[in-house]
Amino acid sequence: MVQKYDCLIIGAGMSGLAAGIRLGMFGKKVCILEKHTIPGGLNSYYKRKSYLLDVGLHALTNFSAKGERKGPLPKIFRQLRIPYDKFRLSEQIESKIIFPEHQLTFTNNIERLISEIHQSFPHETDGFIKLIEMIKTYDALSLNDGYLSAKQVVGEFIKDPILKEMLFTAPLIYGSAWENDMDFSQFVIMFESLYLEGLSRPFGGVRTIISSLEEKLNSHNVDIRYRSGVKRIITEGVKAVGVELLNGEILKSENILSSAGLPETMNLVEGIAPEFKTGGLSFTESILIFKDKPKSFEAESTLIFYNNDKVYKYQRPDTLVDFSSAVVCFPNNFEKDDLKEGMIRITNIANFKKWDMLDRKTYLAEKENVYQKAVGLIKKLYPKFDQEILYKDVFTPKTVKKFTGHFDGAVYGSTEKRKDGTTPFKNLYICGTDQGFLGIVGSMLSGISMANLHVLMGDK
Ligand SMILES: Cc1cc2nc3c(=O)[nH]c(=O)nc-3n(C[C@H](O)[C@H](O)[C@H](O)COP(=O)(O)OP(=O)(O)OC[C@H]3O[C@@H](n4cnc5c(N)ncnc54)[C@H](O)[C@@H]3O)c2cc1C
Repeated sequence: MVQKYDCLIIGAGMSGLAAGIRLGMFGKKVCILEKHTIPGGLNSYYKRKSYLLDVGLHALTNFSAKGERKGPLPKIFRQLRIPYDKFRLSEQIESKIIFPEHQLTFTNNIERLISEIHQSFPHETDGFIKLIEMIKTYDALSLNDGYLSAKQVVGEFIKDPILKEMLFTAPLIYGSAWENDMDFSQFVIMFESLYLEGLSRPFGGVRTIISSLEEKLNSHNVDIRYRSGVKRIITEGVKAVGVELLNGEILKSENILSSAGLPETMNLVEGIAPEFKTGGLSFTESILIFKDKPKSFEAESTLIFYNNDKVYKYQRPDTLVDFSSAVVCFPNNFEKDDLKEGMIRITNIANFKKWDMLDRKTYLAEKENVYQKAVGLIKKLYPKFDQEILYKDVFTPKTVKKFTGHFDGAVYGSTEKRKDGTTPFKNLYICGTDQGFLGIVGSMLSGISMANLHVLMGDK
């Protein structure tokens, strides 16, 4: 007999899990369909030797202290009825933006960044403060705004081209599907989440968050089916009515929420579906594990946004990897350190198509090259780094494709976002990355808002 649901959710990433909890809480019959064997999507985890590694976690954005009511994180706790302490958050120490002739440090207190800008770019202090004031009053969550160039808007407040580039590095690499610029609403979201609210790490890594979400899903009897890839979305006219799984099973549903990405979801729709743009940005990530903690070689920062030029090139490189910039993450350098060994994660911008063309032998050799370059950067930044590497892993744009299913391994999905979640098909909605909210917090918020807007409010 064909199973019938109130809502099917494609993908057990952060957005799908959050949407599932929200719907289960209101008594909906929900099933989350995931092609992999564990939850988390791009923010999942894996085990190699005795090491438990996070796939994507550097830091949780949008930090808020216990008891705060405003902001995305308290909203997630309220909407999912998860107690604040469950995420076991530990704040960043400090992070740096490093350019050839300038450095800026930021913490979870914006006053630090203001004073750093005042020291290095005194003539820009007023403009930066005005930019903050404007950002605080801007409605970035409006679901109807079109694309507005963030570089253009920020240029009205910040005149120094180097400072402007420096301020864009973190928002771009942590949340832009667009090359070298981003939609101003997205910039506002990223600016608030990184510089105004700040960074933290769940003690125990991403598994702490995932197990809190799983616990909630179980308590609301939400079905999650792993190894259940969706082969096609079944439609009747302009209405989505169900899915066929890769094993041939058919499931029917009143609504479908998809976190698989906009072009990828449309690709699942049977018959003729409109095409949407694919994003071009992907990453490599090198993970190094060693005996001593980073402080032993004087690495005290949590994150480093490194760029060796005056201009920050946030674009698909013509080569396999762009080594001129990187994000360096020290998971040990949060207020509480939950790791036994020292660990560094280094992210570089990479080109999916170039990686996809390599034969197996060259692929492995190029991964080794990425690792060697990562070690070289650490030695450049920290000349005292002389650790024996106990374990290393490098993942490539092909890994991003494997964990997300995104065409071209596009980390932040399509350059076409669907802020209101709608698609050309009735009852088929987008949540997560291609709805437009990125990162762990953003994607959970996206799952919650799309579940509220299209399934729960749709009931009234
Ligand atoms: C290197 C790296 C570091 C990052 N670091 C951070 C960080 O420090 N902090 C942060 O906040 N964010 C970080 N992110 C971003 C964050 O991981 C993502 O924005 C977020 O996890 C996206 O969640 P999502 O639910 O929208 O999508 P996804 O995680 O992509 O989930 C989609 C799910 O759908 C499944 N799926 C796709 N197609 C199908 C199908 N046909 N059938 C069934 N299932 C399907 C996929 O398997 C996947 O599980 C990082 C990303 C990367 C690559």
